[in-house]
Amino acid sequence: MKAVVVGTGAGALASALRLRAMGLDVDVFEACPDPGGRARTFNFHGHSFDAGPTVITAPWLFDELFALFGERRPEHVEFLPCDPWYRLSYSDGSSLDLVPDPARQKDEISRLCPADAYFYPSFLKHSEELYRVGYEQLGAADFTSFWSMIKAAPHLVRLGGFTSLWRHTAKYFRDPRVRQAFSLQPLLVGGNPLNTTAIYGLIHAMERKGGIWFAKGGTSKLIEALVSLAKRHGVRFHFDSTVNGFETDSIKRLVAVRYRHGDAQYSIPCDLGVWGGDPQVGYSTLGSERLSLFEKMRLKTVASSMGLYVLYFKTSRRYPDVKHHTIVLSERWESLLKEIFGGKKLPPDPSLYLHRPVATDPSVALDDGELFYVLAPVPHLGNFSSWETAEGAFRAKVLSILEERMLPGLSDSLVFAEAVDPRYFKKALLSPLGAGFSIAPTLSQSAWFRFHNRADKVKNLYFCGAGVHPGGGLPGVVTSAKVVESLVRRDYPGVCIPPRVEDRVPQGALA
Ligand SMILES: Cc1cc2nc3c(=O)[nH]c(=O)nc-3n(C[C@H](O)[C@H](O)[C@H](O)COP(=O)(O)OP(=O)(O)OC[C@H]3O[C@@H](n4cnc5c(N)ncnc54)[C@H](O)[C@@H]3O)c2cc1C
Repeated sequence: MKAVVVGTGAGALASALRLRAMGLDVDVFEACPDPGGRARTFNFHGHSFDAGPTVITAPWLFDELFALFGERRPEHVEFLPCDPWYRLSYSDGSSLDLVPDPARQKDEISRLCPADAYFYPSFLKHSEELYRVGYEQLGAADFTSFWSMIKAAPHLVRLGGFTSLWRHTAKYFRDPRVRQAFSLQPLLVGGNPLNTTAIYGLIHAMERKGGIWFAKGGTSKLIEALVSLAKRHGVRFHFDSTVNGFETDSIKRLVAVRYRHGDAQYSIPCDLGVWGGDPQVGYSTLGSERLSLFEKMRLKTVASSMGLYVLYFKTSRRYPDVKHHTIVLSERWESLLKEIFGGKKLPPDPSLYLHRPVATDPSVALDDGELFYVLAPVPHLGNFSSWETAEGAFRAKVLSILEERMLPGLSDSLVFAEAVDPRYFKKALLSPLGAGFSIAPTLSQSAWFRFHNRADKVKNLYFCGAGVHPGGGLPGVVTSAKVVESLVRRDYPGVCIPPRVEDRVPQGALA
C-alpha cells in the first residue's frame, strides 16, 4: 500500500514513520527545500539557528518513533535537561523560576507570595488530573465522530474545561505574577490564556512528568535524526515539491496527489494521503464539493493563532547570567494579550521569549560570542500586515527592551540580527494569515470542533499537525500522528501487521 505524506513538520515526520513501520510504502512531499516546517533550521552568516521549537517536553514521544524500528533515540540525538525550565522576568524587577523539583517550586513561589505557595500542591494535583484525562485519555483519541465528543464532554466539564486557564489559576493564586507563570503555557501553542480552555493546564503536569529538554546541538539535530531514521527505513523525501491537488475516484477515495516541482506539474498515485500542513490549505486543496458541511463551516469560521516575530542574533560578548529560556514580561498582561490576539497594531511594549541555548548545551558555544533568538507574539496578518514599514521600528523596540532588561550593552555587542515575521509563515510555510502556530487552541476549536484527523468525505485522506487534534506544540503534533496511525489501523484491518509500538514496549523503557 502506498501513502503520500504532505509536509515535513514534526507531525508529518512522525506520521511518515508510523505508516512506514506499519509496512506502507511512503513518499513525503515538502514545499520548502529542507525539512522541519516550523522546526526547520536557518543558517545566518555561517551560524545555525533553530527556527522554532527549543523546548522539548514529553521526550518519550520521540523515543517511541525510534522504537518503532527497534532503535534507541539517545544513540541518534541526545536530550539535555534544562534547569531552570524557564525564568520569568517581571517589569517590577522580580523574577520567578519554573523548576523541575516541586519542593523547590514551592519555595520559588513563596519568594513572591507565601500564600500562593501554600496552594501550589492543589494546583499541581488538578493539573495532573487534567493531564491524565485531557492527554492520556483524550489526547490520542480520534474525534472524528460527534459521539466521541459527547463521551468526552462530562470529563471536560468536570475538569473545568469550559473556563479559561487565566480564570482557573485565580482559584489557586492571588499574586498576578504567579498567575501569569502558570497560565502562560497556551501561548507556547498559539493560544490566548484569557480564553484558552483550562484543559491546557495539563501542560504544567506534562512538564513535571517528563521534564524539559533541549536536543544537543539544537532541535535541528532532532529533525535531522527523524529524517535519517525515515530514510534508513525506506521513506522517500521530495523537497521543493508543493502539493496542489487531490485526485479522487467516483466514490470520493483519494487515488493520486498532484504536486508542483520547479515549473513542472506531476501526479503520484496513492492508496492514502496524510496532510501535515495547515489544515485550511488541505481542505481548500480538496475543494468544496469534497467537503462536509462541518468542514465548510470550519473553513469559514476558523480562528488562527497569533503571529510571531523572531529575531535571530549573535553578540560579541557573553551573558553567562542569562538562563536558557527567559520570558521577559511586559508590565501589561490582559490588555497586551487582547492586542496580540485581536488588535490592529503592533504592541509598543511586547513581552519576549529569549532563547540562549549555550546555557544548557556547551556544544553550541562559540569562541567569539553567543547566539540567541528572541520571539515576540504579534497579531497575525489578518489583523496587522504593514510589516514592510513597521519592521525596523519594531526590531529596535525589541532590542532596546532586551538591552534594558536582560542583555546590557547589547547595541555595542550586536554582530548581526536577522528576523522573520508573519509574512514568512505565510509565504514559506504556507500558513494562512502567517499564523505562528496554525489554528488557535480555543474551546470551540478543540477535540471534535477542531479540524478532524480524517476528512469527513474523502475517507482515505488523514490530517496531522498543529491544526488538528490534539493541537500545536511538538508533543501535540507528534501525538496527532498516533491518531492517524489508529485511524489507518481501523480503516485497513489486516494491512497493518505489527502491533503498536506502545503495546510492544513498556513506557519508560524506550530510552
Ligand atoms: C518560533 C516558534 C517557537 C516554537 N517553540 C516551541 C517549543 O519550544 N516547543 C514546542 O513544543 N513547540 C514549539 N513551537 C510549536 C511547534 O514548532 C509546532 O507546533 C510544530 O513544529 C508544528 O508541526 P506541524 O507538524 O504542525 O508542521 P509544521 O511545522 O507547521 O510544518 C508543516 C510543513 O508542511 C509544509 N507544507 C504546507 N503545505 C504544503 C503543501 N501544499 N505542499 C508541500 N508541503 C507543504 C510546510 O512547508 C511545512 O514545512 C514553536 C513554533 C514556533 C514557530
